[in-house]
Amino acid sequence: MTPASQWNGQFSCFDLVARADSYTRTVVHAGGVEIGGGNFVVMAGPCAVESEHQVLETAEAVAAAGAQVLRGGAYKPRSSPYSFQGLGVEGLKILGRARDATGLAIVTEVMSPEDVGVIAEYADIMQVGTRSMENYALLQALGRCERAVLLKRGMTATLEELLRSAQIIAMHGNPNIILCERGIRTFETATRNTLDIAAVPVLKTVSHLPVIVDPSHAAGVRCLVPTLARAAAVVDADGLLVEVHPCPERAMSDGNQSLTFREFRNMMDDLQPYLALREEARQPRPQLLKVGGAD
Ligand code: PEP
Ligand code: MN
Repeated sequence: MTPASQWNGQFSCFDLVARADSYTRTVVHAGGVEIGGGNFVVMAGPCAVESEHQVLETAEAVAAAGAQVLRGGAYKPRSSPYSFQGLGVEGLKILGRARDATGLAIVTEVMSPEDVGVIAEYADIMQVGTRSMENYALLQALGRCERAVLLKRGMTATLEELLRSAQIIAMHGNPNIILCERGIRTFETATRNTLDIAAVPVLKTVSHLPVIVDPSHAAGVRCLVPTLARAAAVVDADGLLVEVHPCPERAMSDGNQSLTFREFRNMMDDLQPYLALREEARQPRPQLLKVGGAD
């Protein structure tokens, strides 16, 4: 019996993303970074691209602290029409310059199938936000695109629905998918969303795709982000997506949950013992030598 059979074949109809055996895992390669190959990949940066200075400063700070991927939205899905909507193509160009300056790979959100082409010119990883997980035209367009896709769980979506969306991308030709748990809506209001930490081991059991955690949108407040990041490391997530801003009080979106540079550095330092522990736990254990007597 495989661990995945606990779920009685619930996910096996999504044959391109479901795990058929216990050893096959997808390793996604994007902009020189390997996601799902055993490393813990940290993607960090502002919620939104606001200016060249803001992005370059953040890119340098997060790279120095150990991030491998720069995040930043140029096309923003804002719930209010009065909020900052993103810089669009100008924002993509800024991200491109940050990649040239730091060597970081770029992840940025795509909201509509019409934008896939232009965003793919600048991004190494195309982010599908929680509000777009069921935008089937977008999923199909990303299936036809050659870039890796970071697929966020819809805020009211089950894991089955998340894998169904992943299957659509894969069916249209793109197997390079990273799943992301970013918190779901529950009756709890103390956090912006409820981080479903069990989603990580479930997804890693039933699917061969890498799974990362976004502690920022789950928490909604920056003081919880390092603790949720630690939880992600302990449950064997393949990495994190974290919001960082040079001056969170002045951020044009999600400042409340964005870490300062210093907080991000501290979070990265604090993660190290947990990452070392999980590395150690992966090593084969030496057989205990039994001396004398039968048991
Ligand atoms: C984001 O990453 O800034 C974002 C909008 O995330 P989500 O889709 O999870 O709300
Ligand atoms: Mn955000």
